[in-house]
Amino acid sequence: MSKVLVVLETAGGAIRSQSLPGITAGKQIADARGGELHLLVLGADASAAAGIGAAGYGAAGVHTLSDAALEPFTAEAWGDAVVHAAKTLGASVVGGTASSALRDCLPRAAAILDAPLCAEIVAVKSGDTFTRPISAGRALLDETLSGDVVFFTARGSEFEPAAAGAAAPVAAIDGASVDTRGVEVLGIKKTESARPALTEADVVVSGGRGMREGENFKILEELTDMLGGALGASRAATDAGMVPADLQVGQTGKIVAPNLYIAVAISGAIQHLAGMKGSKTIVAINKDPEAPIFQVADYGLVAKWEEALPELVAAVKARKG
Ligand SMILES: Cc1cc2nc3c(=O)[nH]c(=O)nc-3n(C[C@H](O)[C@H](O)[C@H](O)COP(=O)(O)OP(=O)(O)OC[C@H]3O[C@@H](n4cnc5c(N)ncnc54)[C@H](O)[C@@H]3O)c2cc1C
Repeated sequence: MSKVLVVLETAGGAIRSQSLPGITAGKQIADARGGELHLLVLGADASAAAGIGAAGYGAAGVHTLSDAALEPFTAEAWGDAVVHAAKTLGASVVGGTASSALRDCLPRAAAILDAPLCAEIVAVKSGDTFTRPISAGRALLDETLSGDVVFFTARGSEFEPAAAGAAAPVAAIDGASVDTRGVEVLGIKKTESARPALTEADVVVSGGRGMREGENFKILEELTDMLGGALGASRAATDAGMVPADLQVGQTGKIVAPNLYIAVAISGAIQHLAGMKGSKTIVAINKDPEAPIFQVADYGLVAKWEEALPELVAAVKARKG
């Protein structure tokens, strides 16, 4: 029976919410193949696996592969572990949500196995044919993969988060020790933030080149914090050093799909839209009525941010009491 193996990410002993759409994509592929869904938990310890097994998510099994080399994350170690797990379990499809980590390690695992990978799929057409955007989202391509094992990454905004179901058995995969391929983590510089992760936030407030300088993002941060959201930015804003690069939303940044996306002084270039157009409600503030962002916005305000944002912040403050 065809086994579809979905790689999960965990934090604080629990599954990360960004992994849930990847499970849904994997389940659709497993169902289309008449096969089984299996989940893979990687890490220094398997503490998250019990909770994941209890929630099941429609899987036939939850597998853990524990090795000290898997934390902190490196694409080399995770890629090696995914290869080991895929071979041990006899998986015919391997994938997960197109997060920063899995976008990095799954292509490596596919390359080691000389297997094809379909990146950022937005729909499952059949057990081996997946739809993915090309040309920065201007067109969609149905791609059929063939081979003993094939790989996918799924765009988180295009698949519903998997829901808990019947419990699934948890089993450990005997580890051959994970090969880090000479990569050593010397240190980690973390951006400390009380805000939710950009890819997991319910509300994202993003600023663009029209904000002109980093100092001006303070008012966006105030709005973000009042709404309990995450701060984002266009590439023009991150390239100009107004905010850190890890806040970039778009084709070459983070893909987000919050309930509310507020784009301020962002023109709406196709590469930016590729990262946020799956948002449930899009609000755009731009002084140019012709800005393409208004074509995807549910609510548009033609105004200078210097005038609109203080009013918006005051209105939200008044509403919150
Ligand atoms: C291969 C490739 C990958 C890319 N990947 C990404 C990506 O991942 N993410 C991304 O964002 N971009 C990406 N880009 C860049 C993208 O093409 C655009 O250049 C970029 O998104 C533009 O950012 P922006 O909208 O902030 O700036 P601009 O296009 O310059 O727009 C600024 C907007 O601000 C408005 N404005 C100015 N002043 C004010 C004011 N006072 N009040 C209100 N509005 C104001 C203007 O009317 C304008 O619409 C990529 C490009 C390439 C070629």
